[in-house]
Amino acid sequence: MKKIFLLATLCLMACQTEKKTEKLTAVKDEHSFAQPEKAVAKHLNLDIVVDFNAQTISGKASWDIENIAKGDEIIFDENTLEITKVTLDADEKPTSFSLGTEVEFHGKPLHIKIDKNTTKVNIYYKTTKDGVALQWLNPQQTADKKYPFLFSQGESIWTRTWIPCQDSPSIRFTYDAKVTVDKALLAVMSAENPQQKNDTGIYTFKQSKAIPSYLMAIAVGDMQFKAIDSRTGVYAEPSMVEKSAWEFAELGKMVNAAEKLYGPYRWGRYDVLVLPPSFPYGGMENPNLTFLTPGVVAGDRSLTSILAHELGHSWSGNLVTNATWDDVWLNEGFTTYVEHRIGEAVFGIKEAKMQDVLSRKVLSDNMAEYGKNNPDTRLKVSTSGRNPDDGLSDIPYEKGYAFLQVVENAVGREKMDEFVKGYFAGPRISINYYGRFREIFQ
Ligand SMILES: [Zn+2]
Repeated sequence: MKKIFLLATLCLMACQTEKKTEKLTAVKDEHSFAQPEKAVAKHLNLDIVVDFNAQTISGKASWDIENIAKGDEIIFDENTLEITKVTLDADEKPTSFSLGTEVEFHGKPLHIKIDKNTTKVNIYYKTTKDGVALQWLNPQQTADKKYPFLFSQGESIWTRTWIPCQDSPSIRFTYDAKVTVDKALLAVMSAENPQQKNDTGIYTFKQSKAIPSYLMAIAVGDMQFKAIDSRTGVYAEPSMVEKSAWEFAELGKMVNAAEKLYGPYRWGRYDVLVLPPSFPYGGMENPNLTFLTPGVVAGDRSLTSILAHELGHSWSGNLVTNATWDDVWLNEGFTTYVEHRIGEAVFGIKEAKMQDVLSRKVLSDNMAEYGKNNPDTRLKVSTSGRNPDDGLSDIPYEKGYAFLQVVENAVGREKMDEFVKGYFAGPRISINYYGRFREIFQ
């Protein structure tokens, strides 16, 4: 019934002929203390040292800011960090800062005193053992058992446990980074990456596309790189790199198929990093460098749909992002739709139909588990006062996908493709998605 109701609503929208200009209004993200409407971070210059003995990252996060309200404060998010000093602008003028009251899961607001002409804020800090984004693996927890390994997981609100930032998916910034590591190890990030170790242990990175904070990512370990084609490749521990490159041989084809559907891949290179066995997720769509569980390296190329999903995020989620975690289905439902479309283009309709059956089974199992009337089974959920990762099931993925299939069936594939392409090329943040639907279908 619900689907039929939504369908009717969308058809009504499609029939409207009068063009209306949508006024996009900012949505308050309850999971961030930042007040970007007053003062917002635009670019990060990160200079950090990774210390495996102490299991800390320490250094300086220099933020270029825009003081929109010309007030005397900017607020960042931090959680479990040790903030040692804050200065202003290139000449590092001293300033004062204070931490507000801690809120469970959210950490504390970091209030920094600025003046109306401040353009840069330099935050000196160190991570602590309580930070949940950083996973420090000892050599025994890696595939090759020789060197330790570090990786981060920022989604949803955990980047603030390794970088002081305005940690909301509605705020985007570009970044440069200088990362110092043990000379035996290689560092990679969600950015343009080095392809081999150097003698200094110092690596520099550049991400020139503005990204939300949850897409900040780092990995450090004994990694090697192997190219698949001119713009795709694999990073992995030495014993895994050949197997991984064989497993993901179709990667270039997938990128080509996605481009045909949704327009140019806009991030430069697309590489994947196969993490040590203890990576607890299937994959994470960090820009330029998807992080993947080694479980995907099955030896028969049978589990590459997860790759299509993470690649799909290079358009859905990474180009256009949910403004708050209540709308996570906009990231995941659209990406699941894109994943299936890429799969259909690369592996054919028969395989796609089989994947659809599996998808529906996952959805009905999840719905049964949660109970049909459980508010967490809605597409738009309420994460207010909660850890946004709690209650995140397969529902935003599979129900979002099912919903978009209903829309596709109602309007036809041609119109749907035009809409999705426009949606990815449109406003960077999905503030008003019904507005976007209306815009395309009228
Ligand atoms: Zn996803």
